Amino acid sequence: MNKREIKRKYNTKSNITSFKKGHKPVGRSLKGYKHSKEMKNKVRKSLLGRTGSNARNWKGGKTDLTRCIHSLDKYKEWRLKIFTRDNWTCQNCRLVGVYLEPHHIKSLKIIIKENNLVNSNDAIKCKELWDTDNGITLCKECHKLTENYAGKSHKK
Ligand SMILES: [Zn+2]
Repeated sequence: MNKREIKRKYNTKSNITSFKKGHKPVGRSLKGYKHSKEMKNKVRKSLLGRTGSNARNWKGGKTDLTRCIHSLDKYKEWRLKIFTRDNWTCQNCRLVGVYLEPHHIKSLKIIIKENNLVNSNDAIKCKELWDTDNGITLCKECHKLTENYAGKSHKK
């Protein structure tokens, strides 16, 4: 069998072989293209879904860490210490028996930034974060008025 015969044989017998060999006959390549395009879209979609949230996570990493810190037991302890010390009273309007929130006088965001906190382990080890002197009891309404309430400051 000479080369030409082999070529003809493969071309007629198997699309895959010729495709593999780098030939791009219109019909087949379109099929392949369509397929790969679909695949690409699929991959892109799943990637978009991921990178979308990843990108958000990344960009708002500090915000996520804040949320993370809020869910720590240590945070609950800290909050309890602040509330107890402040007699469960809003330190601004002096209301008692309302929904109270602990306020970080020096904002969490700044503490996270200054201490280069990346994850909850870093956060747990960070003394400044758990300094009760940096916490104050506020009612929800007063808390809303603070500069760094719910990330107000970094939306500016
Ligand atoms: Zn208040």
